[in-house]
Amino acid sequence: MILILEPNVDRSSEPYHQLLAYLNDSNQFTYSMHEVQGAVQHLTEIYLLGNTAALSVEQMKSLPCVDRVVRIQESYRILGRHGEENRQNGFTYNGVTIDQSNLHVFAGLCAVDNAEHVEIMFSALKDHGQVTSRMGAYKPRSNPYSFQGHGASCLPWVFDLAGKYGIKIIAMEVTHESHVEEIDAALRATGRATGVMLQIGTRNTQNFELLKSVGRQQEYPVLFKRGFGITLNESLNAAEYLASEGNPNVVFALRGMKNQGGDPHRNMVDFSHVPVVKRLTRMPVCVDPSHSVGTRDHSPDGILDVFHATAQGVISGANMVLVDFHPVPSKALVDGPQALRMDELPWFLEDVAIARAAYEKRAALASSRS
Ligand code: PEP
Ligand code: MN
Repeated sequence: MILILEPNVDRSSEPYHQLLAYLNDSNQFTYSMHEVQGAVQHLTEIYLLGNTAALSVEQMKSLPCVDRVVRIQESYRILGRHGEENRQNGFTYNGVTIDQSNLHVFAGLCAVDNAEHVEIMFSALKDHGQVTSRMGAYKPRSNPYSFQGHGASCLPWVFDLAGKYGIKIIAMEVTHESHVEEIDAALRATGRATGVMLQIGTRNTQNFELLKSVGRQQEYPVLFKRGFGITLNESLNAAEYLASEGNPNVVFALRGMKNQGGDPHRNMVDFSHVPVVKRLTRMPVCVDPSHSVGTRDHSPDGILDVFHATAQGVISGANMVLVDFHPVPSKALVDGPQALRMDELPWFLEDVAIARAAYEKRAALASSRS
């Protein structure tokens, strides 16, 4: 059971002390406090653990300072929505708010190759008003002889260039806990020129030790990719590892499922799960059309399948799009066949805006009926 206290509760007040006295006296449960800093208000949530089935919601709601009471179901204790419409969903990091109601495009290189290409990418993003990007430095590859990413050596100049072009967040995959330390050290050395969202790739969805160590740090939010061969429930439980260790600032990414039903796409596009994840959890939802589709093929209408898949996610209410671009896709060291070209960036952004406007109209229509 979760007790959500009145916003900005005064901890020196008498009612607050009465509440703590009540909680400390109980031998039915133990409790832990969680502070949630939102864009506009500070919330205190108190998690009651133990025999809470016997507690009545009404009785707990009448305690001093308690605003709302949520009875939690078994799964996704922290990240779950538990049927509550009004709980905080999302977070603000480095001045950018990412939640279940807005949308950000993270366009960038699947893998950092050289400074020229990185600079072309960041500069194009700046020209189009974008402050978020993706850049891979640590690449998990199927083949041990394939390029594995430049690793820590590229971080200083990637972060410096990001700062130069006003990029606030870079989504960057980590495959080992030492990568978080390397990213942290490089960011510190550049005076925190930019920010990083740590990405957990689909191959590491159930690497529980990695999840625990990434969850223990609270500096960086996490972009968590759905496992490509497990159920949605298993992936959501895995994401909960991050929150259970202390970091609830998690975006859940759909990136397609590996099965032959997806052919000729690289993976079976699963963006119909955007509303499902938003209903079950409080995580903002990302779609990755590049790793879902895996090609630059287009339909007779001239629209690339990557654009179509993106629009399908965005029109369903996705909050983030992670998409591969490259100045010269034929020279990309990783995933060139699915990369969009720089001249396609304004077209892509406009197409996303059309799908977003359609989503907003659909949401307004739904709420006009309720
Ligand atoms: C990526 O985004 O670069 C990536 C490797 O994605 P995934 O883990 O979804 O395959
Ligand atoms: Mn890739």
